Amino acid sequence: MRIDVLTIFPDYLAPLGLSLAGKARDKGLIDVRVHDLRAWTTDRHRTVDDTPYGGGAGMVMKPEPWGAAFDELLADGDATVVFTTPSGRPFTQAVARELATKERLVFACGRYEGIDQRVLDEVATRAEVREISLGDYVLNGGEVAALAITEAVVRLVPGFMGNAESLVEESHEDGLLEYPVFTKPATWRDREVPPVLLSGDHGAIAAWRRDQAVRRTAERRPDLAHASVLLEDVEIRPAEPADAGELYVLQLACWVAEQHDNPGVRIPALHETYDDLRSWLARDTVLVARSAGRLVGAVRASLDDEEWEIGRLMVAPDLAGRGLGRTLLERIEALAPGGATSYTLFTGAGSLRNQRIYKKAGYRLRPGEPIPGAVRMTKRIGPR
Ligand code: SAM
Repeated sequence: MRIDVLTIFPDYLAPLGLSLAGKARDKGLIDVRVHDLRAWTTDRHRTVDDTPYGGGAGMVMKPEPWGAAFDELLADGDATVVFTTPSGRPFTQAVARELATKERLVFACGRYEGIDQRVLDEVATRAEVREISLGDYVLNGGEVAALAITEAVVRLVPGFMGNAESLVEESHEDGLLEYPVFTKPATWRDREVPPVLLSGDHGAIAAWRRDQAVRRTAERRPDLAHASVLLEDVEIRPAEPADAGELYVLQLACWVAEQHDNPGVRIPALHETYDDLRSWLARDTVLVARSAGRLVGAVRASLDDEEWEIGRLMVAPDLAGRGLGRTLLERIEALAPGGATSYTLFTGAGSLRNQRIYKKAGYRLRPGEPIPGAVRMTKRIGPR
């Protein structure tokens, strides 16, 4: 990824040469070029600002140096241009993920009262323009925002972080804040590490972490908890025969994406008839989730020997990633009869996102290929 930064304070960007970003630079994963905007001025004083039309306090950045800088930088090829501004859209992990897919970013760091609007409008005619705010406060200049955005984006560039798992586990990746973390020693100044973390019971650890993440999010960021835990306006209840029609449609919609991830695999959910669905609906334990009357999710389970076999976990594609699948999974796990000793589920061998979600919920891959193109994942049921 190539990153260009336009600023009147190039020295401000020096930290990009440090730490992991510096290493990524050395490895050639990112190519960072910092430019002094004043290089594109033409007067003796290298002027970049002027008084605002319409009056008011402060100065505004003149369009000419910016125009000349973009003429030169955009001649090198396509780029996404990021104008850092407190009136932009908020910077989030989702935006970072999106920017990490771009081949080239150009940051424009404002100063004074900002940049003449015509610069943004004109650049938008020849490049993708994003106006991004670091948060609801005002900085003196856009350099800190460009640094922060670069750091968040660059660590998502493939090959940058040694351990991709640690990216999945982080705050905001699943819409929740991260759970508290601990390291050795187990006792420090009379403070103990929570015993569950020393238990070796992966299912219990995953459940504890999830619970802590939900509590933390609800306490500190109720705005996120609402979207991610998503329980306030979703009703989860046992399925009824009258749910069959909508369930059939939702199932087809949900498994089309699975087929894309697992080409060539015959996915039962895409091939069964309406009557097949009605018969398992009558036979298995099935939960459905409804939001404002709409069927938005479902899951089923049945006891096979001592295994509580969970399947058909589905969430309407437009609501994916908000924690509803996780909630349905927890609800159906809680319905396992007393004789069950483990939970089992199957997912596509190519469905890596599903596998990551199940791993996070405490499931582990079981060796072997029980059904062609599928993997089996299990989790031991702890004491109840
Ligand atoms: N008058 C502007 C306003 O009220 O929107 C604030 C200008 S600010 C003093 C100067 C520059 O700092 C902006 O042009 C922008 O590049 C940068 N900046 C300030 N706060 C920012 C924030 N929250 N996010 C991103 N950039 C910011």
